Amino acid sequence: MSLAEFSLIERIAARTRARADVVLGIGDDAALLQPRAGEQLVVTADTLNSGVHFPAETPAYDIGWKTLAVNLSDLASMGARPSWCVLALSLPGADPAWVDAFADGFFALADAHDIVLIGGDTTRGPLSLSVTAMGQVAAGTALRRDGAQVGDDVWVSGTLGDAAVALRAWQGGTLDIRAAADDAQVETLRLRLARPTPRVALGRALVGLAHAAVDVSDGLLADLGHICERSGVAARLDLDRLPVSAAARARVGQTHAREAALRGGDDYELCFTAAATQRAAIEAVALRLALPLTRIGEVVAGQGVTTGSDTPGPQGYEHFTEL
Ligand code: ADP
Ligand code: MG
Repeated sequence: MSLAEFSLIERIAARTRARADVVLGIGDDAALLQPRAGEQLVVTADTLNSGVHFPAETPAYDIGWKTLAVNLSDLASMGARPSWCVLALSLPGADPAWVDAFADGFFALADAHDIVLIGGDTTRGPLSLSVTAMGQVAAGTALRRDGAQVGDDVWVSGTLGDAAVALRAWQGGTLDIRAAADDAQVETLRLRLARPTPRVALGRALVGLAHAAVDVSDGLLADLGHICERSGVAARLDLDRLPVSAAARARVGQTHAREAALRGGDDYELCFTAAATQRAAIEAVALRLALPLTRIGEVVAGQGVTTGSDTPGPQGYEHFTEL
């Protein structure tokens, strides 16, 4: 570890908060954590590589935010309470201002969710950020992909497709990812891509209500497809119910907005299934969290996701070429 690396670690370590269940945090060879009795640990890791998972020109604040957000989203989809995380940084240079701005974004989200950074690794190399996040759930209560049952409703939170519309606009040179837009709708789309909101409170609220859940990171068709595959069921979507934002519609029109909602990635909403008897309870959750929850289809016997119209075709963000 070089002196430069050490001072970067110091800058990050200075930002971490205390948590009673962290027996030993940053500074030793490893951290010591005290999980709560009767709880299961929920562990996930996600890496963001510059130029692959975000445009290279993305501001450091947004990179810090998104690095943690994508991991919190995985904890949310499991119904976990976030607890701890570790951060592996590969940085092309020792730029303290960049690290401070990155930390501003990272810790804004971390502090809001009471997740604390308890260690990591700092190396020199192409810009790459990797987080391992840990959360806790009461034993046996986690939301999983394999619990969907025939007859369940299929629900999704928020709106879908915004991040894909924003990415497409950036690729087309009509959206600046580096700065706030004057147009409120464009700014809404930009923030959906740059600073996604992990649905942690929703995931917690769905424990005991939902049969299965997944976060929508690769597109609704692909991610709901994971629930179907793991649960041994099929899903039928009602395309007219897909929640698309006014901003996306204004930007690309209804048809393309719907296409983005089906296939676009990076939204980090939750898609879940629940018995029809839970409708009132789920609507109450939507009210309490001030987060729209929309019933978009049903779980049926069979395989795969159908949309009632033409066949879905290629699924997921990799194939996202329309718009
Ligand atoms: P070691 O060589 O024993 O792995 P390091 O020099 O890599 O030690 O790290 C020293 C301490 O700083 C460790 O507690 C480690 O977890 C922490 N650390 C290193 N990089 C980061 C980082 N990017 N974020 C948070 N903690 C870090
Ligand atoms: Mg190390």
